[in-house]
Amino acid sequence: MYRCSECSEVVGPHQRQHQVVVETRSRRYPPRPDAFQVTKRIKQKKVWVDDPGGVGHETVSTIALCEVCFRRRGN
Ligand SMILES: [Zn+2]
Repeated sequence: MYRCSECSEVVGPHQRQHQVVVETRSRRYPPRPDAFQVTKRIKQKKVWVDDPGGVGHETVSTIALCEVCFRRRGN
């Protein structure tokens, strides 16, 4: 059971809840040397490889919507 964030109705059990992302932020991930251990196919040797890092987005907040409100939003 949960309360819909848009219509404030309490939704009964076994009803689907839609988590909708309402706010994101950009995020830069730094490179990490020797981050992962992988096994080479030849000789089955384990080696450490670097994570190059990069740029992405993180979720800041979400809201819980009922089925009716979710469809009304057009998601
Ligand atoms: Zn609703």
